[in-house]
Amino acid sequence: MSTDLQELFQNNRQWAADTEAREPGFFTRLMQQQKPQYLWIGCADSRVPANALVGLLPGELFVHRNVANLLVHSDLNALSVVQYAVDALQVSHIIVVGHSDCGGVHAAMTNQRAGLVDNWLRHVQDVRDAHEGFLAGLQESLQVNALVELNVLEQARNVCRTTVVSDAWHRGQTVVVHGWVYGLHNGLLEDLRMTVDSADQVGLAYDTALALVKQRYRRLQAQHGADALTAAAPEA
Ligand SMILES: [Zn+2]
Repeated sequence: MSTDLQELFQNNRQWAADTEAREPGFFTRLMQQQKPQYLWIGCADSRVPANALVGLLPGELFVHRNVANLLVHSDLNALSVVQYAVDALQVSHIIVVGHSDCGGVHAAMTNQRAGLVDNWLRHVQDVRDAHEGFLAGLQESLQVNALVELNVLEQARNVCRTTVVSDAWHRGQTVVVHGWVYGLHNGLLEDLRMTVDSADQVGLAYDTALALVKQRYRRLQAQHGADALTAAAPEA
């Protein structure tokens, strides 16, 4: 077994050379300043590499990732990232991105114990419990992805409620908060239509996006029900 991870260094040298060959002066220009327009708040999952998914280069996307893409009001790490992004880098967009079949959300949904992380995932369980009735009406195979989307809406709303974003809006700075979900099965991003650019829109945007999520999952549930009935029907 290699202990010095030479392969990674080799890949890195190749990547740096390719990048410089494609765009001479790329790294020296980046040294002058970073001016990303977007802050991405996503899951730490290795299958959801932020820059690659949206085709952005170094310098174009400011990124914060943690298990289950949470923005917790007392998390100084995430809040510091948001503050630096909004106040110093002046990003125009903050995007909370969940992903289908998220392991963290799955553990939260099904009360799986994994250790210390359970305490972190308790925040996702709070989202689950807030929508208990709706989730209970869905069959198990739909519940995790439904909770993934509910969690995105909740975290996007948390972003809107930070002092950082609310102060930025108050002073007239343009910051748009978005909620997206990424499909592990097809590599595609979907906009959950939780798009907010002022404090007075937060409630309505959340309610509208929530209604859309519920509508979609109820439709899927009905479809599954119909499929199950067809499958169970005796042959003519
Ligand atoms: Zn995840």
